[in-house]
Amino acid sequence: MNKRKFFGAHVSASGGVENAPLNAKAIGAGGFALFTKNQRQWFAPPLSQKSIEQFKINCAEAGYEPRMILPHDSYLINLGHPEQEALEKSRNSFIEEMSRCQQLGLDRLNFHPGSHLKAISVEECLNRVAESINMALDKTQGVTAVIENTAGQGSNVGFDFEHLAYIIDRVEDKSRVGYCIDTCHSFAAGYDLRTVKACEATFALLDRTVSLDYLRGIHLNDAMRPLGSRIDRHESLGNGQIGWECFRWIARNPRFDYIPITLETIDEEKWPEEIAALYAFAEE
Ligand SMILES: [Zn+2]
Ligand SMILES: [Zn+2]
Repeated sequence: MNKRKFFGAHVSASGGVENAPLNAKAIGAGGFALFTKNQRQWFAPPLSQKSIEQFKINCAEAGYEPRMILPHDSYLINLGHPEQEALEKSRNSFIEEMSRCQQLGLDRLNFHPGSHLKAISVEECLNRVAESINMALDKTQGVTAVIENTAGQGSNVGFDFEHLAYIIDRVEDKSRVGYCIDTCHSFAAGYDLRTVKACEATFALLDRTVSLDYLRGIHLNDAMRPLGSRIDRHESLGNGQIGWECFRWIARNPRFDYIPITLETIDEEKWPEEIAALYAFAEE
């Protein structure tokens, strides 16, 4: 298998986090994403020592290193919440998630920045997100906070690349902040990816806005809805509005070596063939 390319999918961790690397291996993945707890719960019982050890053993046996793995936090968390009490709950839950990653020996945690809920300005929301990241980095070690760009659905912030730059600018420890680009979200937010030329232009704009040096992962999804729809609906690769040209370009591009490139496409039955197709592109 190509040693520079970490193509995988967001696999199930049901029955325990230690099952995720096994599920990833079974589909021929060179990396994976997972939830380290039930993503619909605010707080979870702590990881058992047995589970932590087994996770590390299973990763080592399957050849998965931390840089190939991109855990995702709970969808409930809103680090830019306009109300103090809810903001604190989100911050505590996020710190717990960062700590779980740290316990598992993982080096990054992917999250959606937050929502202003039409109660505060975008700028004020972004300020809260940055402050939340600073607090979480203060209370944890070795785990990078990886901000995911969003589709801009509802009152979500983070759909404009400048939002990512604004947040990162305000994070004190630049060595432990980065971002993840979701292709479906980018397209829904109005960044074209349908041709090689469009991909080059979009990623050049991204690099100018917030250096690609901060890129810590990619979510590879086709988009059900048209360019600029602001609606977050993932599709299987090649079945949506973006198309294979983009995914082939990303798969072949050495700029995206050594970072987790993760499918969150809707049909998990297709994951083995999608991953195989990406590895075939990388070998061309
Ligand atoms: Zn996400
Ligand atoms: Zn995503």
